Amino acid sequence: MIRKIAIVLLLAVVGYVAWVVALNLPGNKTPSSSPPAPKMAAGPAKTIEIVRSGPLVIPVTGVAASQLADTFDDARGEGRVHDAIDIMAPRGTPVIAAATGTVEKLFDSKLGGKTIYIRRDGGQWVDYYAHLDTYSPGLAEGQKVPQGHMIGTVGSTGDASPEAPHLHYAINAMAPGERWYQGKAINPYPLLTQK
Ligand SMILES: [Zn+2]
Repeated sequence: MIRKIAIVLLLAVVGYVAWVVALNLPGNKTPSSSPPAPKMAAGPAKTIEIVRSGPLVIPVTGVAASQLADTFDDARGEGRVHDAIDIMAPRGTPVIAAATGTVEKLFDSKLGGKTIYIRRDGGQWVDYYAHLDTYSPGLAEGQKVPQGHMIGTVGSTGDASPEAPHLHYAINAMAPGERWYQGKAINPYPLLTQK
C-alpha cells in the first residue's frame, strides 16, 4: 500500500517536472507570455534612422570617385559660394540616394530647378539634390528611400547650363528643429571620395 502511494507520488512529481520543462522550452511559450514584437514607426516623422559611419555612395550612376572635382568653394556670383559638389553626367543619367533617408521636400526653385531634400541619420543631415531633369515616378514627400535607390535623373533645370547637365549635391548639417531649407553646408567631396 505504501509502495503504491509512493509510486503514484513519484509519477505525479515526474509528470509535474515534465510539464514545467515543456512549458519553458523555447517555442512552447504561450503568446501571452511573449513580449510584443517591436513595431516599425508608421509615419516619417517617427522614423528613427540608424546612424551610418560608412561612406556615402556617389549619387549619380556610372560616375567614379576619380571623376569627381572639388567645387565646394567655387564662387557663384553675388558673394555666394557654391557649398556643394557638381557631378557632371549626361541628361537622363539616374540619380540615386547617397544615403538612406526620408524624402522631406520636393521643391521647384528658380536656382535649383527640380530639387529633392532627403533627411537622414536621425535628422542631423539633409542631402540636397538639384537641377534634376525628372523625379522618379511616384517619388513623394515622406517616402523612405534606401541608399542607392533611384530618385530622379540628371538635368539642367534651374540656373544650370543646358550644355552641361549635372547633379548639384549638397550636404547640410542640421541643428535640432531646423527645417529642410536651413542647415550648414559641409563639403561632400572628401566623403564621396574616401576609400
Ligand atoms: Zn552646383
